[in-house]
Amino acid sequence: MSEVVAPVVVIGAGTMGRGIAVACVTAGFPTTIVDVDAAVLAAARDAATTSIAKRDPEVDVDALLSTSDDLERAVKGAGAVIEAVPEILPLKLDIFERLGRFAEPAALLASNTSTMSVTRLAGACARPERVVGMHFFNPAHRMPLVEVIHGSLTAWPAVEDAVTLARRLGKEPVVVRDVPGFVTSRLGLLLGNEAMRLVEERVASADDVDKAMRLGYRHPMGPLELADLVGLDARLNNVRSMFEQVGNEQYRPPAILEQLVADGHLGRKTGRGFYRYGDDGTNLGPAADVTA
Ligand code: NAD
Repeated sequence: MSEVVAPVVVIGAGTMGRGIAVACVTAGFPTTIVDVDAAVLAAARDAATTSIAKRDPEVDVDALLSTSDDLERAVKGAGAVIEAVPEILPLKLDIFERLGRFAEPAALLASNTSTMSVTRLAGACARPERVVGMHFFNPAHRMPLVEVIHGSLTAWPAVEDAVTLARRLGKEPVVVRDVPGFVTSRLGLLLGNEAMRLVEERVASADDVDKAMRLGYRHPMGPLELADLVGLDARLNNVRSMFEQVGNEQYRPPAILEQLVADGHLGRKTGRGFYRYGDDGTNLGPAADVTA
């Protein structure tokens, strides 16, 4: 294991943070998950423990995985920090400002942002040359891609460290320049928005839109099923961020997405979004009020 990147601290114990932590522990890295919410931290630890045991029962989870609500203490001695807090700019700027003060000078400082300027996050940090994007995909312990983003303040060794870390986690990295949404969100969010507008305009039902993209384009999952998996609150933050940055109408959050989030229907995690879900996550079919 590279001394450059071990141990790892993951900030944010939500959908992505816990998957990233599972990938890190399974790869043998001592890993600490940090969150401000004690209940979320406890749930993340349970979920990660179960998931790691399924992947590799030999892994000593107790020895490798810890949790903390104290970012400043947790990052002492860490070789890499991966931030996975919600896609809200002031929140991420605050984290990177604190990482600049409290992380080790040589630590790799990565953001799992889906849309935001890595250069802007680096600008808040006293170590901008160590700041990169490491964009994992959901579920982060299973999806093979990590998009590594270099901002204009990022020094190349940090990009190399991010590529090395991604490979040690068993991932396939692609290195991209820092533009809003990078490669994957720039393309994927447009597809998701258009799929939602097709449902809004009653062109087709949610399940027919998804079926069309699965069978016609060989997508493993339709764009609306995917939005439910991502979390509709997280998706709304992403399209808001893209719309604010580029102003292209096609990134404007669809009304149906705003409404579902306002009603507390956040996708799989709440049992309802474009579809309804059973307690075990089984898709029970389209939610009646979003069907054309
Ligand atoms: P989430 O809402 O599920 O989890 C975020 C966690 O961060 C929450 O547990 C929250 O308590 C915690 N948090 C908030 N403020 C904090 C702070 N100051 N310090 C520590 N923890 C704090 O969000 P998510 O879906 O995991 O998304 C996290 C990031 O990953 C976002 O930037 C998102 O764009 C990106 N992302 C999400 C997905 C996805 O499918 N959900 C995929 C790729 C990238």
